[in-house]
Amino acid sequence: MARADREARSVCPYCAVGCGQRVYVKDDRVIQIEGDPDSPISRGRLCPKGSASKQLVTGAHREEHVLYRPAYGTEWVRLDLEVAMDMVADRVLDARSKGWQEADGQGRRLRRTMGIASLGGATLDNEENYLIKKLFTALGAIQIENQARI
Ligand code: SF4
Repeated sequence: MARADREARSVCPYCAVGCGQRVYVKDDRVIQIEGDPDSPISRGRLCPKGSASKQLVTGAHREEHVLYRPAYGTEWVRLDLEVAMDMVADRVLDARSKGWQEADGQGRRLRRTMGIASLGGATLDNEENYLIKKLFTALGAIQIENQARI
């Protein structure tokens, strides 16, 4: 793409096929996304969804702020990312603690929580899944799954 300042290699975020993409950028804005001919998986091809993935980045309906709807609330409230991340961390720790099992009925050591679980999506890559598994295992969760299809 001749108009671009630079080009980045990426992977389509939509499904587990993981087609290779070339992302063309001008003035720090994505101006085009095309199939990557060097990808051994897709060899330059993208399906209609992958071909339209520029809209995921630039579409007018894209949310660019954290939105939160409080319990019993009827409106979305905009939150700072830092605040939202703290709220997530607080809830994870609270659920972990409430679901904690130190030992079973016969005194055998369990040291696990039934309060949190993880279900990963198909577009998570090996490295992300590795880190998710490490994190949730360290938290004491035992239900750690991924719906990956490949
Ligand atoms: S281009 Fe289509 S087939 Fe390829 S990863 Fe994206 S959604 Fe899946």
